[in-house]
Amino acid sequence: MSKSVDYIIVGAGPAGACAANILSKSGKKVIIVGKVLGGSHCSINSTSSEVLVNFSKSFEKFRVVKDSYLSDDVENVALDFKRIRKLVDTNANKSKKVFLETLEESEVEFIEGTACFSGSNMIDITTAEGQTVTYKFKKCLIATGAVAPKTSLYNNKKNLDVAAFVNMEELPESVAIIGGGALGVEVASFFTRFGSKVTIVEKNDRLLSMFDPYISKKYEDTLKKRGVNIITSHDITKIERVGQKYIALSEAGPIESEEIFLCTGRVAAVSELMLESAGINTDEKGRIIFSNNLQTDNKNVYVAGDVSHIMMNSSWAYYSAMVAAKNMMGADIEYTAEILPVYIDSDPEVAMIGISEEQAKERGLDYGTFKYVFGDIYGLASSSGSQTVIKTVYEKSSKTFLGIQAMGRGANNLIGIFAIIIKLKLTVEQIPDFVYIDPVFNEFFNEVTEKLL
Ligand SMILES: Cc1cc2nc3c(=O)[nH]c(=O)nc-3n(C[C@H](O)[C@H](O)[C@H](O)COP(=O)(O)OP(=O)(O)OC[C@H]3O[C@@H](n4cnc5c(N)ncnc54)[C@H](O)[C@@H]3O)c2cc1C
Repeated sequence: MSKSVDYIIVGAGPAGACAANILSKSGKKVIIVGKVLGGSHCSINSTSSEVLVNFSKSFEKFRVVKDSYLSDDVENVALDFKRIRKLVDTNANKSKKVFLETLEESEVEFIEGTACFSGSNMIDITTAEGQTVTYKFKKCLIATGAVAPKTSLYNNKKNLDVAAFVNMEELPESVAIIGGGALGVEVASFFTRFGSKVTIVEKNDRLLSMFDPYISKKYEDTLKKRGVNIITSHDITKIERVGQKYIALSEAGPIESEEIFLCTGRVAAVSELMLESAGINTDEKGRIIFSNNLQTDNKNVYVAGDVSHIMMNSSWAYYSAMVAAKNMMGADIEYTAEILPVYIDSDPEVAMIGISEEQAKERGLDYGTFKYVFGDIYGLASSSGSQTVIKTVYEKSSKTFLGIQAMGRGANNLIGIFAIIIKLKLTVEQIPDFVYIDPVFNEFFNEVTEKLL
């Protein structure tokens, strides 16, 4: 005997929960099934890493003040990492509670369990107690997130995935980070603030290869000044455990460290879903194929969040969930990846929105670029102690902005402002109509207006 439901969502992370709340407004029956409430967002990813990253920022500010401005009798200050761990757990639980309250308010039923397709409109849910119930759905959303890929680099049970960094009990003296993308540099910044000796190994010729080479280079220079050892154009071929150390092998020679984390990307979590039972096709990499309105080859099944592999961050999770949920209720909205901001909470901050110079060139646009560098005016307790570096791409004929990338203090706020400027297609003539609180932004907007007008 199967039960019937209008909307069923698989995966109870930010994407699933956001879609559930939107769908509940239809007045129809909504069920959300997940292995954990809050998804990996609450258990291993954003919430925990955010707490740790914020704590490391406070710690570094304290250290700067202590070393430079406090009298000598403030000694023997040690970090109690076990208490920080407790803080991480408390915040993760608070986050889960918010998820539960929101679902309850929307009258969405949450089922703790694992789901897989058993037909084109059928899903089997196996609960935590081991009971399996079949549901017949009208529309379904897959929001199962992403997982660390299997690795052949290390033949040991210990999990070296970056998510494990939130479970550490003690701070290591030295850390090797394999992969210099968004997660790699975020984790590297965390350890640098606490004074660990950090090495980043990246197989591309630069860190943050999704950013413009100009920004990447400035970023790399800043990290080097902070003492981070950066090895680019090298691939790690094997990791060994020797005594209390890890040895990562590459052509650059062995890299020895007390801890090592793999930040080499994540893959869509689809292996348990039995997609073929529902006629949902995947590409050669096993990723779900879907259209620009997030609909799969089964017209009643949609995707949102990390599992869609368009982007893997919370902004995309919420935005794609909104697009998918509205389409499930009958709309026909296509997603636009270009209005999505990317923000990396590292030292220094880096963020971007819109298209890069390379993309403007590929599209044959008549574009210009404008670069801007502002010196550090916040020396005191400024962890990055660096410049603000900005690069914009604009269309020459319309004098509208196509994209912007920024590194340094306030980069995320600037990108937030540009999210509106780009979406509304504001022209450079309209820029002086606004007053910006931040002195760096005011300077930048003055300069960009002068140059482009
Ligand atoms: C270490 C780390 C730090 C991060 N920090 C940030 C950050 O600072 N800012 C940011 O924006 N993003 C960050 N991210 C990314 C962010 O966590 C994800 O983009 C976000 O959680 C995606 O939400 P989601 O709902 O798509 O997936 P998830 O949050 O992963 O939720 C999906 C859930 O579905 C469950 N599931 C899978 N298969 C099934 C099944 N068959 N049946 C039932 N349930 C299933 C999974 O177990 C999971 O609980 C970080 C990621 C990592 C790894």
